[in-house]
Amino acid sequence: MSRFWSSVVHNLSPYVPGEQPKRDGIVKLNTNENPYAPSPRVLAAIAAATDRLRLYPDPHASSLREAIADRYDVAPEEVFVGNGSDEVLAHTFQALLKHDAPLLFPDITYSFYPVYCGLYGVSYEEVPLDAAMRVQIADFRRPCGAIILPNPNAPTGIALSRDSIEALLTEHPDQVVVIDEAYVDFGAESAVSLVARHDNLLVIQTLSKSRALAGLRVGFAIGQRPLIEALERVKDSFNSYPLGCLAIAGAIAAINDNEWFQETRRRVMTTRESLTRDLTELDFEVLPSAANFVFARHRSHSGGDLATRLRELGVLVRHFNKSRIADFLRITVGTDDECGRLVALLREMI
Ligand SMILES: *Cc1c(COP(=O)(O)O)cnc(C)c1O
Repeated sequence: MSRFWSSVVHNLSPYVPGEQPKRDGIVKLNTNENPYAPSPRVLAAIAAATDRLRLYPDPHASSLREAIADRYDVAPEEVFVGNGSDEVLAHTFQALLKHDAPLLFPDITYSFYPVYCGLYGVSYEEVPLDAAMRVQIADFRRPCGAIILPNPNAPTGIALSRDSIEALLTEHPDQVVVIDEAYVDFGAESAVSLVARHDNLLVIQTLSKSRALAGLRVGFAIGQRPLIEALERVKDSFNSYPLGCLAIAGAIAAINDNEWFQETRRRVMTTRESLTRDLTELDFEVLPSAANFVFARHRSHSGGDLATRLRELGVLVRHFNKSRIADFLRITVGTDDECGRLVALLREMI
């Protein structure tokens, strides 16, 4: 606190990111990073782009938007890119989600959403997940200014079908519905194919998880032109160059190397299934995950205790101090070896 702070700063409650340990040798299963390296083509593209460091990057990142448009079968004008999907989300809250009526999102969801509401003065209402921790779209039938939800949801990992998303879009024709697809590539159905027939849909994705580029900071949104134009108006009032030339070059290479993408995401999904079996055998209840993490609680050990003891033994998992989910651990799917080490430690503890 300081007398120099603006009232806005006094009233913020910032997001707390998962720990990034300084020590080596930690098994890091706490921030949903990909355990595999990005495509080797990404590194080559970044190396080649260093020639251009003297120059400002393309403020529109046109070549990246074209690569994304080709991959997802939309027009480049239907693509917005930003410095991580967190930045795309931030612009979305300001550009499209701030209305008189409240924004709706699940009570258990990405904890950055209420933070953006605080930053931009967006009023919101939380819609409780059902007893099985699922999103029920019928529960969103109430007056609102807009809706945002991750699919699959975080931190539950549970996915909605594309048909359910379409029902939500049809029930709210006059509200923007944002689907945050940070984890969609690990087994859920993307809503991108619905963009052509729903002018109220904005889909947000990231290269951080399924393309193993959390450190490069690239995310994007796909929607019809008026929604994209709103994001561009905010972006061009904030930072004309959110993506550097290295990020643009690396992201294009990642989007174009489909083979690497398919292989690594398949490996993560295979390990998720074996991790789920192992945890279930140890008497964990594991929610059905379509993401690169599982959300699990033990029948007799508290989540907080397990997380603390694992941490002492060099394995980081995420625990949320929030009443409804305090017994759960969110465990990122690592390599088979990393998950094996986690399971071996849990077997000793339990
Ligand atoms: C990880 C994550 C993001 C943000 O990813 P970036 O690294 O900023 O692209 C957005 N939404 C959800 C639900 C996430 O889990």
